[in-house]
Amino acid sequence: MRVLKFGGSSLADAERFLRVADIAVNTHGQSQVALVLSAPAKVTNHLVALVEQTSRGMDASPTLFEINGIFSRLLAGLKAAYPALDEKALQTRLTKELDQVERLMQGIRLLGQCPDNVQAHILSRGENLSIAFMHELLRVRGLELDVIVPEQLLVTDGGHLEAHVDIEASRVRFAAKGLRSDCLYLMPGFTGGSDKGETVLLGRNGSDYSAAVLAACVDAECCEIWTDVEGCYNCDPRLVPDAYLLKNPLL
Ligand code: ASP
Ligand code: MG
Repeated sequence: MRVLKFGGSSLADAERFLRVADIAVNTHGQSQVALVLSAPAKVTNHLVALVEQTSRGMDASPTLFEINGIFSRLLAGLKAAYPALDEKALQTRLTKELDQVERLMQGIRLLGQCPDNVQAHILSRGENLSIAFMHELLRVRGLELDVIVPEQLLVTDGGHLEAHVDIEASRVRFAAKGLRSDCLYLMPGFTGGSDKGETVLLGRNGSDYSAAVLAACVDAECCEIWTDVEGCYNCDPRLVPDAYLLKNPLL
């Protein structure tokens, strides 16, 4: 199996989402694939802001509106590219997730704080929606799919927000599940399961870690961390304005 992980910037809009689906379809033609996805760009930051604002008694509805906007634009773009997409099902799922976040916000407002298990649930909505959208896109493209639910298979310790994965215990669960060779697997990044099966987070930017532990648990032949840059620069182009792209980074 090859584990392919795509981060938020690779899933930022419909065009990039479609590109990830193309890569998944092409790779699946050659070997078994598991896709690990992050939330679309900015979504997790908005969710963090929403929890903070609500805990402080501020109105976080504009933040929730932004999140809804990101997924609504994504949905419209995917539907335009693939008219057979079940837009209604995805819209219902989006509404259900965001309605639940809104109800949890009422609780946070009353408490004046957000319990860690509630925070883990809210912050992981972006990854869960990424998987729902990619699942529908790949279904329309005719792929046989299954979802790896981290709450059931990735055994963790270390609390709800910065948990570590117990790879040996998780390997046992994967072996018991037994993965099929004919389907493409999808797994939300950033999350695992507590001993009660609740959602826990693997720390900010934890999706690379998710992909690595999945690869270890299934003895994958490789784990590819995809990112949407042109190649290797001589230094960080976000910090150094005249950074340049290396022609041959291995020399
Ligand atoms: N979406 C999560 C974050 O922004 C995890 C990740 O993207 O790796 O921290
Ligand atoms: Mg990242």
